[in-house]
Amino acid sequence: MVPLMFNVDLHTHSNISDGVLEPAALAGRARANGLEVWALTDHDELSGIGEARRLAREHGMRHVPGVEISISWAGQTIHILGLQINENHPPLVQGLERTRTGREPRAREMAAQLAAAGIEGSYEGALKYVGNPDLMTRTHFARYLIELGMFSKVHEVFRHYLVEGKPGYVEHHWATLAEAVSWIRGAGGLAVVAHPGRYKLSDLALNAMLDEFKQMGGAGLEVVTGSHRVDQYETYARLARSYGFLASSGSDFHAPGESRVDIGQLPPLPDNVTPVWHDWF
Ligand code: AMP
Ligand code: MN
Ligand code: MN
Ligand code: MN
Repeated sequence: MVPLMFNVDLHTHSNISDGVLEPAALAGRARANGLEVWALTDHDELSGIGEARRLAREHGMRHVPGVEISISWAGQTIHILGLQINENHPPLVQGLERTRTGREPRAREMAAQLAAAGIEGSYEGALKYVGNPDLMTRTHFARYLIELGMFSKVHEVFRHYLVEGKPGYVEHHWATLAEAVSWIRGAGGLAVVAHPGRYKLSDLALNAMLDEFKQMGGAGLEVVTGSHRVDQYETYARLARSYGFLASSGSDFHAPGESRVDIGQLPPLPDNVTPVWHDWF
């Protein structure tokens, strides 16, 4: 089963969303780390895929067209990865275009809240870190609060700001689970629930979400990811097995020194799961 032994990373971000590296620098870093199969999965955005495909070819890596879609489910934000998508499929393109338009007014509101909490100028401050004006995220605000010397790490910012109940959090309605899954499947892709261990959902609620996802034709669960602790890999491998989901693996790399796992530096999937890439090559 040699194909399963590839160095695979199916969850990475460039500065087209909230990563800091341009696609070319990301691809170079991936190759230097020995990556063989690469998906660029920017948030709600497809515009880097063409370049990622060219870069992958240039570096002798296999390329997987991907995206990470923000959805709202029972008041929570959940991320759904679309892998092996046709990035030109009109409902996917138009659906994501629609979800992106909410980001700018949301960012203004976040800045207003931060100003009320005594942090002035955060809209302009965050904008300095933005590579794509359509895609301002909380990560960009977090980097600005670090610049101000308030914190040293992005994950620390998210304990005190930008999350529910703290300054800078603006409730937002993203796409629905049904929309995201139908856009991805319509585009010929596989829908995968990203970092299931990161959501503030009870086991009961997570199971309800996964039941719905399965019913809609969802295909997989991210098991090994830089957004999970190592002790969570086995937990979500078991869950993938019990649902009959394929298992995915992706660093969720955003920036050197910022992300827990570097691009192309993932440990292997646990045994007894079927990798999402099992029949791709
Ligand atoms: P947004 O799409 O604007 O809501 O921003 C979400 C992004 O914030 C995610 O994609 C992560 O990159 C980042 N993020 C959210 N929570 C955390 C956390 N606890 N630690 C580090 N990054 C986080
Ligand atoms: Mn992100
Ligand atoms: Mn995510
Ligand atoms: Mn991500």
